[in-house]
Amino acid sequence: MQKVRTRIAPSPTGDPHVGTAYIALFNRCFAHQHGGEFILRIEDTDQLRSTAKSEKDILDALNWLGLSWSEGPDIGGRCAPYRQSQRSALYSSEILKLLDSGHAFPCFCTTDRLQELRTRQMENKISVGYDGHCLTLTEEQVAQKLSSGVEHVIRMRVPESGDCVFNDMLRGEIRINWQQIDMQVLIKSDGLPTYHFANVVDDHYMEISHVIRGEEWINSTPKHLLLYQYFGWETPIYCHMPLLRNTDKSKLSKRKNPTSIGYYRDMGYLPQAVVNYLGMMGWTMPDGSEMFSVEEMTTNFDLSRVSLGGPVFDIAKLDWLNGKYIRETLSDDDFLQQFANWAFRPDRVSGVIPLVKNRVERFSDVVPLAGFFLCGLPELNETSFDNKKVNMDECRKILQLTLWQLESLHEFNRTAIESSCVSIAAHLGIKIRDFLLPLFVAISGKEISTSVIDSISILGLDITRARIRHAINVLGGISNKEAKELEKDLRDFAQKTE
Ligand code: GLU
Repeated sequence: MQKVRTRIAPSPTGDPHVGTAYIALFNRCFAHQHGGEFILRIEDTDQLRSTAKSEKDILDALNWLGLSWSEGPDIGGRCAPYRQSQRSALYSSEILKLLDSGHAFPCFCTTDRLQELRTRQMENKISVGYDGHCLTLTEEQVAQKLSSGVEHVIRMRVPESGDCVFNDMLRGEIRINWQQIDMQVLIKSDGLPTYHFANVVDDHYMEISHVIRGEEWINSTPKHLLLYQYFGWETPIYCHMPLLRNTDKSKLSKRKNPTSIGYYRDMGYLPQAVVNYLGMMGWTMPDGSEMFSVEEMTTNFDLSRVSLGGPVFDIAKLDWLNGKYIRETLSDDDFLQQFANWAFRPDRVSGVIPLVKNRVERFSDVVPLAGFFLCGLPELNETSFDNKKVNMDECRKILQLTLWQLESLHEFNRTAIESSCVSIAAHLGIKIRDFLLPLFVAISGKEISTSVIDSISILGLDITRARIRHAINVLGGISNKEAKELEKDLRDFAQKTE
């Protein structure tokens, strides 16, 4: 029997998401339970959005949770490299096979033509997708266009009728009509592969036996299966896990819940409690126990017992579990050790000391001045924002615009944060001193503290976001209508600063 090999294949385009850790955990348990291997592959085909920082954060976050892998970009392995950007030669040679067999074809359609086609399809209320225009070109026409260097992509052929039928480990038979499946672009005009093509080629060459991933990929599976068929490769077994949900059952989103693993680390959760909680997402131990380690989960694992009713990621439940871990698993010495490691993280402390040193006369002044670095959400009420310079509406506007602006920064550092604040303040016509007042309160709970720009850069985006959101809520929240107006404001602002 083929050895069990599973993988987690994150795209390094943002914060390390709890959903990635959840899928990684289930892949790892399944592989290890079968004496197999769990590997990590970085899917960075989206060159514009992929960053080295995001890749590092993802690896750090999975390591923090103890979800180690046996092959990956950091440790190598027999299928290296494990970063798609380093595997382009493989994709270029594999696509030739599909072009030769006629299963893939060059498409020279311009963006304008595709846009027109889309508009027409939408007007006529028919399904949106490529119409096969370039399949009607003669061999000579294709050769002529290729030799004169006309820009093109490579698409896959798709059956015109019938159903794609496949078996999912959790969901049983899934049937999707081929008419719903587009002639997917496999290679973009820059010669680089799309997710679909690179993902299948890599799963094959990395000998992945079971693809365990989120349910949002179900509709992509027919394309993937077709590629396996075109190549004549054995297909892996698919398993689409239920998506994590907010408490209102909508898809887990950072608008409603912190989704970055960094947030949970920075708020002082224990990694073993977070990973335990992720294990409770749609799954229970056979004996019903609520506290279990990854090893215990692996020993007792049974993928078929995952329940499909959308698992709710409920912070209140996680808080309860984390408290239980603190009380029941940490001795006083462990507590001291782990608390100190968390509170005095060298990267954070090294930023805080210079801010505090010149402003204190005794060590006992440190906590009143800078204790907020160790707090979760400051205690606030509306009167915390009372001041003579900016009114409540302006406060909310300042907070929301600053948050959006901070979220869009490529580099989260002092200079970038400062210039964001300075330019939004100018855009709103508010003096920078006054502009910073609500931010001081949101971040530190007080109007006066260490420099708020420095504090934001030390606390990082995850905690900053949580505190600004908390402040906005204390001030009554932002209605949809207001959000729309503010978004317009932000667009005007962005245009001005372009
Ligand atoms: N790169 C995809 C992601 O970011 C991987 C999806 C899959 O597991 O096939 O989730």
